[in-house]
Amino acid sequence: MRMTVIGTGYVGTVHAACMADIGHEVLGVDIDAERVAALAAGRAPLHEQGLDALLASGVSAGRLRFTTSLAEAAAFANLHFICVGTPQRPDGAGADLRYVDSVVEGIGPRLRPGALVVGKSTVPVGTAARLAGRLADLAPGTEVAWNPEFLREGSAVHDTMHPERLVIGVSSDRADALLRAVYWPMRRAGIPVFSTDPATAELVKVASNAFLATKISFVNAMAEVCDSAGADVTVLARAMGADSRIGPQFLDPGLGFGGSCFPKDIRAFAARAEELGAGEAVAFLHEVDRINTRQRRRTVDRARELLGGTFAGRRVGVLGAAFKPGSDDVRDSPALAVAAAAQAEGAAVRVHDPQALDNARAACPDLTYTLDVPKACEGADLVLHLTQWPEYRAIDPAALAGVVRTPLILDARNSLDPRAWGAAGWAFRALGRPLSTVGGAS
Ligand code: NAD
Repeated sequence: MRMTVIGTGYVGTVHAACMADIGHEVLGVDIDAERVAALAAGRAPLHEQGLDALLASGVSAGRLRFTTSLAEAAAFANLHFICVGTPQRPDGAGADLRYVDSVVEGIGPRLRPGALVVGKSTVPVGTAARLAGRLADLAPGTEVAWNPEFLREGSAVHDTMHPERLVIGVSSDRADALLRAVYWPMRRAGIPVFSTDPATAELVKVASNAFLATKISFVNAMAEVCDSAGADVTVLARAMGADSRIGPQFLDPGLGFGGSCFPKDIRAFAARAEELGAGEAVAFLHEVDRINTRQRRRTVDRARELLGGTFAGRRVGVLGAAFKPGSDDVRDSPALAVAAAAQAEGAAVRVHDPQALDNARAACPDLTYTLDVPKACEGADLVLHLTQWPEYRAIDPAALAGVVRTPLILDARNSLDPRAWGAAGWAFRALGRPLSTVGGAS
């Protein structure tokens, strides 16, 4: 099948490469000419396992091309996926739909009759209906569907090829059949497909993200209670997660969520629900957001306290800049926010990350960066573990103790082994865990 993918950022690049791999003929479109040139040369603009290989094979097989021209896109296919960003509005909590709208305004007048425009971007419920109304004027005889994207950064290619479910929001049997045909290998593999109306499809995405964000903030709220009660949140989370009705995933206490999705998606959901008169139903999302933001502050406060009340003149080694492991994305990264706050209060901060240094440097140019863990921690008065990269669990604490000034670590992700660090002479501290359980030197 022929299709275009408009917006070749995280979602669009992965979607385009995977669709070409399935055997479709794909034209990727972006307004960023530099990005288009790199993609056309087979270079991925982001770090994602397996993506480089898929891009290279799609481009060399001729099934995957890229352009900046919406006119070329409209002429190329009758099936168009919209994957542009929907960030938070600069003047409020709602979603900024200007990029989605500009795609529709740009391609609308050029669409061929019978064209199907499919949104994958995360949007407020009602967006598909509004765009369908606009396209009824700009391009009569065309249709809008919504097919939200559930991929996770860090496993985006795998998630696209092997999704846990597909959600297809359509207004006609024809659109449903077309989208089911697009995803033929997934259907053959028995992956469930939920065909529904566009509004429900839009809501499945934001409701799912709201639920996951709530789970994370719930366990972080428990960490705060544990801190006050002298209890251990890591044991609490494991014991809660062993209940199959609760499950262990997204129950990792720590610095909280960030990235380009959860924070803006829960805010946009609450804002849209308020517009619809259902604000009270999701008012708890404001609390979820507040709990999450508070974890960054708690981490900075705890770090300052460990340094004797001030960051001024202190050296801090930071492990992690990406908003989560497996990704080079630093958008709204809790790790980078904590590192920047420590630096702003007078610490000399040196940051390590295995993948995200280029993006981190662009976002926070005042911090010092290194690709070498011992260099990041050299002479440090405190080491902060802020992103849960598996590499950090493999660090030899005894060797690292030899390079720091004071062997003091705050594990803000609760994923290092306190016993191993304690045995190597470190004072090991964590959020939501009393000294009696993390042990180690004090
Ligand atoms: P992104 O910022 O990485 O990419 C957006 C791309 O759209 C950019 O390359 C930009 O240049 C391009 N663009 C903007 N306006 C354009 C236009 N008029 N024509 C063509 N291209 C245009 O965004 P993303 O992270 O890929 O997210 C895209 C959407 O998918 C968002 O709604 C997001 O919430 C949702 N989503 C993201 C993820 C994720 O993990 N990143 C997962 C699921 C859903």
